[in-house]
Amino acid sequence: MADDVSSLVAAAGEGQARAVARLISLVEDRSPKLREVSAALAASSGRAHVVGITGSPGVGKSTSTSALVAHLRSTGRRVGVLAVDPTSPFTGGALLGDRIRMQDHATDTGVYIRSMASRGHLGGLSASAPQALRVFDVAGCDVVLVETVGVGQSEIEIAGIADTTVVLLAPGMGDGIQAAKAGILEIGDIFSVNKADRDGANTTRRELRSVLSMTTHGDDAHRWKPAIVMTVATTGEGIEELVTQIDAHRDHLAASGELDRRRLARARREIEALALTEVQERFSHLSGHADLDDLARQVVDGGTDPFAAADRLVEQL
Ligand code: GDP
Repeated sequence: MADDVSSLVAAAGEGQARAVARLISLVEDRSPKLREVSAALAASSGRAHVVGITGSPGVGKSTSTSALVAHLRSTGRRVGVLAVDPTSPFTGGALLGDRIRMQDHATDTGVYIRSMASRGHLGGLSASAPQALRVFDVAGCDVVLVETVGVGQSEIEIAGIADTTVVLLAPGMGDGIQAAKAGILEIGDIFSVNKADRDGANTTRRELRSVLSMTTHGDDAHRWKPAIVMTVATTGEGIEELVTQIDAHRDHLAASGELDRRRLARARREIEALALTEVQERFSHLSGHADLDDLARQVVDGGTDPFAAADRLVEQL
């Protein structure tokens, strides 16, 4: 397929899966065409509801994602899936096909599935994921599910990218709520207690309720109260209710003005991440530079202090 950006964007706009995949690759690989792609995507509508799916490994994220896709498709919605793997330098469909158990959806033209390896990406998820989300948006997706595959900071970072964050918990994974990562309970708009077919699911729900009631959500009656849904992702039980809550949260965000605030915050982080990346890249050209060696010598010899030296370096960027 030719890499003529405007034809690719036009083809993606007609829903062609290969064009969607190609555009996301261009974004992910930081291709020389990245700026051109970004400009061509700038007018994307922002229609797609971005839903982050996060939680500890083994909790059932990929099974739930697959079940969510099936349910959303049954209601006629177009769905994008972006699986972010912060631990892997690899990318591409094969890995994801295995991982997300998406074979059921492989021939469905209303589903776009992509993985994104974020390790080593300058600027991290904040810089790379939003462009991919715009590609899904251009392709007419109603909902984009962003799932973390690996572990690490991306589980929290995902909340900065999503409109709605679903945190998955499961019984029998260490000490229930105690096992949940620090910070993960604060980011949930919706909690899914998955593996509800297992012993301890009600205990997990009870503990979660009590922890959530302690966190101050303000007494503003218009504030969203995090919802708790019991699911069995392997059978699809509870998935309809999960979608109902996801939709309710979206309606709440739109009605309260919070959707706009979250998207502004996302754009701000994206700009910051890109600007810092640019500075880092310019710096990397400088770092082997004689000027830096010279400044280092002056600092070691006591001729200048490191702050003054840093100022001089920044001036040259
Ligand atoms: P992830 O690492 O969070 O993506 O978790 P997976 O979706 O890969 O699921 C981990 C394991 O838990 C798999 O063997 C799933 O079949 C199983 N699993 C997922 N959801 C459920 C559930 O609701 N009930 C039970 N019993 N097993 C589940």
